Amino acid sequence: ELRSWQSRLREDFPIITAHPDQVYLDNAATSQKPRAVLDAVTDYLTSENANAGRGTYPWANRTTALIRHTEQQVRRFLDDPEPERSGVHFVSGTTEGLRLIARDWLARQLRDGDEIVVPDADHSANALPWREAVDEVAREGITVRVRPMPYDPAHDYDHRALLPMVNERTRFIATTHVHHVYGGDMNVGRIRAAAGPDVVICLDAAQSVGHLPLSVADLDVDFVVFSGHKAMALPGTGVIWARNERGPRFVPGGWAGSPNTSGIVSLSAAMSWLQEAGLERIARWTVALAARLTDGLRHLRSYEVLGCQRSLAADSPVQQRHGIVTFRHHRIGSNDLGFILAAEGFMVRADGHCQAAGGETTSSVRVSVHAYNTVEEIDCLLGLLERLDEEGGPSRRY
Ligand code: PMP
Repeated sequence: ELRSWQSRLREDFPIITAHPDQVYLDNAATSQKPRAVLDAVTDYLTSENANAGRGTYPWANRTTALIRHTEQQVRRFLDDPEPERSGVHFVSGTTEGLRLIARDWLARQLRDGDEIVVPDADHSANALPWREAVDEVAREGITVRVRPMPYDPAHDYDHRALLPMVNERTRFIATTHVHHVYGGDMNVGRIRAAAGPDVVICLDAAQSVGHLPLSVADLDVDFVVFSGHKAMALPGTGVIWARNERGPRFVPGGWAGSPNTSGIVSLSAAMSWLQEAGLERIARWTVALAARLTDGLRHLRSYEVLGCQRSLAADSPVQQRHGIVTFRHHRIGSNDLGFILAAEGFMVRADGHCQAAGGETTSSVRVSVHAYNTVEEIDCLLGLLERLDEEGGPSRRY
């Protein structure tokens, strides 16, 4: 049943069907776009394109209405339990969203003696901006202690490394939902339970939105930030969802600046497409593909899979690996491996992964899947990786 759902869904992606000899496995970098998104943008730009706000004519009013509609759609998409209280702010992506929260919200909230917990092994977009907020308040004589969440490569990326950093002084916790290298799912519920209701939790959902159902009601977080372009929408789109912040605080210039109207239209179409496709099914499919690749790699002696080790054990209590598998070959450099795979039509991310502050900086190869990827593609990749395994090394084949 899942297979026939998936093969129909794959047909929705013109770029995929147009390139049968190419295998796109760099979805953590950006996703491909379904026809519904491309059509929505073309329709908008060919029928009623205008700037938003203060319009005296129908196209401008219609554009404003589309933006308002998309804000409401984001609230529903994130299962917002109190849509009348929350703010939805369109930004250019996760990087900008997190920076705006650090600069325009956190830097104004911090008090002397506060502590914040930051994830050093995360994507730089989420590891760095919080320290800038702390530096800014330090210039006003406010001392805030930064507690970096440590990353131990022998363990999973999950709440167990974070919880020891939390104490009664903790004011703010920044964390990622699904890690962009290790694929592990941070158990946000456990963090909320340990931190209590008053600590502000900001979630970098760049790798989870569009891949699995995300409910802010269940997760009980205060901020969610994500990039539209990783979730089937156009580049230059992103969202800050803020539990209690309705005002224009995060929109540089508020309505004084022009919003990315066609990008917001694409985001609306992308959310509709994702909901129709079914996020539950997308999650099951991508988790299964990643598990298949991880299991296959485990049988090959030349490869080491990074992170999320516990999920490989039969008694795994906590973690699930989402659609991201990162590995190294013992002899072939990751960059070289990236080129070898590219020569065979496989598009993966090789070398570093934007981790500026901490984590495993050694280079690696990341395979990241989405709904349109198939079992055959994973098996084909595994076949190639097997040819590069110890017994049949690259010198014999390349
Ligand atoms: N956070 C995570 C976890 C990411 O994977 C990425 C993108 N790779 C970002 C933040 C930054 O997203 P963007 O480039 O869209 O701003």
